[in-house]
Amino acid sequence: MTERCDTCIVGAGISGLNALFVASQYLSRDQRVILIDRRSRVGGMWVDTYDYVRLHQPHPFFTAGNIEWTLGKKREYLATKEEVLGHLHHCLEKIKQRVRVTELFGYELEDSEEVGETVRITCRSGEGRTIEIEADRLIKAYGQRVDTNAPLELSSKHARSVSPDFFDVREPEMRASETPVWIVGGGKTGMDTAHTLITEQPGREINLLAGPGTFFMNRDRLFPGGARRWYEGKLLSSVFRETALRFDGTNETDVMNWFRDNYGVWLTPETGNFLAAILSESENETIATGLNEVVMDYLADVVDRDSGVEVLLRSGDTLPFEPESWVINCTGSLFRGEHPYEPYVSAGGRILSIQNRSVTFPFPAAGANAYFLTHLLFLGKITQIPLYAVDVEEFRRKAPQYVMAAGTGPLQLYNLSLIAEALPARQFMKVVSLYGLDFDRWFPLPRRLRASAEFMLNHKRDRKHYKQALDTVAERFGIQTGPVVHAGSPFNHAQ
Ligand SMILES: Cc1cc2nc3c(=O)[nH]c(=O)nc-3n(C[C@H](O)[C@H](O)[C@H](O)COP(=O)(O)OP(=O)(O)OC[C@H]3O[C@@H](n4cnc5c(N)ncnc54)[C@H](O)[C@@H]3O)c2cc1C
Repeated sequence: MTERCDTCIVGAGISGLNALFVASQYLSRDQRVILIDRRSRVGGMWVDTYDYVRLHQPHPFFTAGNIEWTLGKKREYLATKEEVLGHLHHCLEKIKQRVRVTELFGYELEDSEEVGETVRITCRSGEGRTIEIEADRLIKAYGQRVDTNAPLELSSKHARSVSPDFFDVREPEMRASETPVWIVGGGKTGMDTAHTLITEQPGREINLLAGPGTFFMNRDRLFPGGARRWYEGKLLSSVFRETALRFDGTNETDVMNWFRDNYGVWLTPETGNFLAAILSESENETIATGLNEVVMDYLADVVDRDSGVEVLLRSGDTLPFEPESWVINCTGSLFRGEHPYEPYVSAGGRILSIQNRSVTFPFPAAGANAYFLTHLLFLGKITQIPLYAVDVEEFRRKAPQYVMAAGTGPLQLYNLSLIAEALPARQFMKVVSLYGLDFDRWFPLPRRLRASAEFMLNHKRDRKHYKQALDTVAERFGIQTGPVVHAGSPFNHAQ
């Protein structure tokens, strides 16, 4: 069976929905998009992630294009998992009013190939049903490829090892027991879990194994409330610029410490990790005061000894462990596994691949990459603008954490600058005006206009600095970065 469509999109998470939103701006009502996802419904990783997860940014800034939420809550409200899933479903329904969408949920992309003017796609359902598709273009919106986290495998018979994705810490079984809880991992999942337990079961012994420690972006500073948004806080684009201009490709520790001190919040004595998650000062305070012990080490195992049960740490240290205590795997699920390298655009310019091995717009949410690249695809510019791409998977393997964090600002701003230069002003304004993921929209229009003017005035000059910083990092760590290079690609000699 061969289906025909104008655009095929694989992945129905925030990335795929942003690609679909943008496609719907260029396609007419009688044109057809096929949307494929191996999951059974729209929502991507939100379908399977733990039930007490909350959006870490104010809810309006997690959307497809500029589609508005219908919750009727204040802007600062942090949406629950069900509300996020509800909104992503609403986005799909809104987009279906502009373009024909055929949904193929429960199907996995198996193969795709550019053949002349079309892309041939094969996908297969869980039951083994195969569908062949011919499309003008294909957008593989795999995004973060977040998978669920299993409980940790521990040697002890006296540890209750669970994972938030499969066990809700608010369940009666947890409430009924009084044994201590060990949260393994100090990132967003660890904070969500600690906050949930501390507020639901005050007084319970909760310990955190925090590894190298993590700092978070300070929600109060990024999103000041009420009238303060007129004069307090800083627009994220200005924060990025300020940070990116400080980074020279070698000084990541200084830059990230400076960023943390000015825009961060943290509860551990050290902070070797930063994954761009957001926390408020009051959440941080609740967690910090509610925790019994914070251990700056990694869990190696929990073991039964003749003398009792022990937590074994990676450093070789041990800690006493009360039998039947809980161990909650919050080690996170971002940047897991190894995937084959794939450039963000294919040689023929008909296939976009949005995933961690070829990243161009890392911020502020996963959908940013899909949003900008899909515009360039439909504007016929995708193979004409030598966007700088970074292999984030390789980065994670080869370079210290802070290098990648310091490099994301320059990457984002460099690519935005290329687009601003390559598109006619009217087109660029249209692209930017539909971009609902933009945290700057928190602030009143006059402040946003000032930030835009600052960008337009300086971006060409700043760009040279960003490129030099990114090239320096690539050279220091032997990491694949820069414009995508295909045989005969116009980018091969790009400066
Ligand atoms: C615990 C947790 C909390 C987070 N909280 C936030 C938050 O508050 N705010 C925020 O901005 N970000 C958050 N993130 C980051 C988050 O991953 C993204 O925001 C986002 O939702 C990812 O969307 P995505 O579309 O890029 O990827 P995904 O949501 O992973 O969607 C990709 C989809 O592609 C499908 N797919 C992949 N390959 C194939 C294939 N071959 N065939 C068919 N289908 C395929 C997958 O099934 C999946 O549904 C969080 C991440 C985690 C792990």
